[in-house]
Amino acid sequence: MTLVDIEIEAQQQRRSALDLQEIVESAAEFLEDASAREIIRWAAATFGNRLCLTSSMSDALLIDLVSRVKPGVDVLFIDTGYHFAETIGTRDAVQQVYDVNLINVESSRTVAEQDRDLGPRLFGRNPDLCCYLRKVEPLNRALEPYIAWVSGIRRDEATTRANIKVVEWDTKRQMVKVNPIARWTQEDVDNYIADNGVLINPLHYDNYPSIGCAPCTRQVMDGEDPRSGRWSGMGKTECGIHV
Ligand code: SF4
Repeated sequence: MTLVDIEIEAQQQRRSALDLQEIVESAAEFLEDASAREIIRWAAATFGNRLCLTSSMSDALLIDLVSRVKPGVDVLFIDTGYHFAETIGTRDAVQQVYDVNLINVESSRTVAEQDRDLGPRLFGRNPDLCCYLRKVEPLNRALEPYIAWVSGIRRDEATTRANIKVVEWDTKRQMVKVNPIARWTQEDVDNYIADNGVLINPLHYDNYPSIGCAPCTRQVMDGEDPRSGRWSGMGKTECGIHV
C-alpha cells in the first residue's frame, strides 16, 4: 500500500464517519418516540451483521428484545475476572436459552497477572484504572469490527445518563450507539421481564438491583438508590464505558 492509498483510505473513513453521524442525527429525532422493538428493527436493518449488543448479565432483557428481531446476534460480555458466580451462571444460561452468538471479552491480563504487575486489589486503590484495564479497553477492542452497538442504559438510572438519546454518536469509539430502552422506567423493565419470562441474575432476589464486579458491588437496603451499591464509598458512579 502506497502513501496515496493510505490517504485515500483515511479520506473514505472520515467521509463514512461523517455520513454515519448524519444518519445518527436524523434517526435520533425520528425514533425518539418509537418503541424499543422499532428502534432495534431500524438498527438491524441499517447495520446488519456489523451490529452487536453488550450485556452485563444483570438480566437478559436486552438480549431477549434484540434476539427476537435479529436471531444469532453477537452479544459481548465483558468477563472482568471479578464477576459473581451468579453472573457467570447467568451468562452460561443465556447461551443455552437464547438464539445469540455469545462472545466472552477478556482483558489482556488475567487478574493474577494484573496483581503481579500492578499490585493486588487495584480496584480498591485505583478503581478507574482497574475499570479501564478490565472493562473499557477490552470492550473497545471487541467493538472494532462493528459499526454500531446496542446498549441497555436508561435515562432514569443516573444523572450521568439523563440526556442519552435512543440513537447517538459514540465519539470516543467513532461508531453508532443504540439505546432502545433509554426512555424505559424500572417499572417498564420489571413488567417486560415478568411478561416475557426473561432470565435474570439470581442476585436480584438478594437485594442486588445493580450488579457489577463482586469487589465493587454491595447489597442495597430498602429506600436506597438502586445504583448506590456500585463502588459504594469510592466516589465513583460509572465504569467509563458509557461516559
Ligand atoms: S468494577 Fe471494580 S473490580 Fe470491576 S473492573 Fe471496575 S474497579 Fe475493577
